[in-house]
Amino acid sequence: IDLEHLGVHRSVSTVFPPEELIETLEDLPVTVSLVEDEDHNDTDCEAIVTFEHREWFADLEWVHSVQAGVDRFPMDVFEREGVVLTNSTGIHDRTVGETVAGYLLAFSRRLHRHVANQQRREWTQPDWDEAFTLPGTTACVVGTGTLGQGVAEVAGSLGVSVRGVRRTPEDVPGFDDIYTTDALLEAVSGVDFVVSTLPLTDETRGLLDAAVFEAMDEDAYVVNVGRGPVVDEAALIDALEANKVAGAALDVFETEPLSSDSPLWAMDEVIVTPHSAAFTVDYYRDIAGLVRENVRRLEAGEAFTNRVV
Ligand code: NAD
Repeated sequence: IDLEHLGVHRSVSTVFPPEELIETLEDLPVTVSLVEDEDHNDTDCEAIVTFEHREWFADLEWVHSVQAGVDRFPMDVFEREGVVLTNSTGIHDRTVGETVAGYLLAFSRRLHRHVANQQRREWTQPDWDEAFTLPGTTACVVGTGTLGQGVAEVAGSLGVSVRGVRRTPEDVPGFDDIYTTDALLEAVSGVDFVVSTLPLTDETRGLLDAAVFEAMDEDAYVVNVGRGPVVDEAALIDALEANKVAGAALDVFETEPLSSDSPLWAMDEVIVTPHSAAFTVDYYRDIAGLVRENVRRLEAGEAFTNRVV
């Protein structure tokens, strides 16, 4: 790749102002500029940093996704056209870890109920046996990559024992125990929280299904911060309605934005967040770090980091 012009696509505005990234990358030995959808015919950039996909990216040489998940990009097309795709995995451990710890604390300390009651100016104390503390509880974290390790570290620091589920049985720092994916039903039984941090792949689609919710304890909570379709949403709603699980905290959904008629919005023990578990004012700095490193590698003739295609 002979890189002279790196574009920053307007769609990154979902997570940060493009201008912040452009300014941070000012000292790179290439031109960095904003690319709007309407000027793609005139742009001469060979590479782009983006949130969304556009068909014309197949004519570029390098596409960098500001998300870790790349399920929105047509990998087969990129492969055929020789487009390099890099992603932003490796930066969301602390943000998502803290968000998940927040969900766990909300459920244990009943904060979501207090906020809901406050909206109605209602003074209602929880039942004597509703609130609990986190030490002594166990979370089963499905996926032990960047997100999984961030969750293990932050939840672990609050006294939660953390069990990890991965494809192969090697130990991972921060996890007290490792189960393999084929022992998922065993891994989710007897825990207080089941947390999915999985990417969406053919193997993970619908992995958290009715059988998983059946295997879980009735007082356990489901958390999903990976990708929506990894959880069978209809089966989760059924399990919540039948009290097979105690509640859920969901940042990602089968269809986003979550439809206003979804029953999930109105359930007392469900926390809905709008795919923002990884949001932070420092997001553009983390992206700049990844892009800067790959531009350096390109100049040095080294292999890209975070390369997916
Ligand atoms: P990562 O690549 O560091 O980790 C993913 C892990 O999942 C890897 O360890 C991989 O081996 C494992 N995995 C894949 N298939 C598996 C299977 N069948 N069984 C068990 N483990 C399996 O990526 P990450 O940065 O941790 O992000 C994970 C996913 O979370 C992303 O792909 C993205 O879709 C999503 N994500 C969501 C948010 C958010 O805002 N909610 C933020 C970042 C990432």
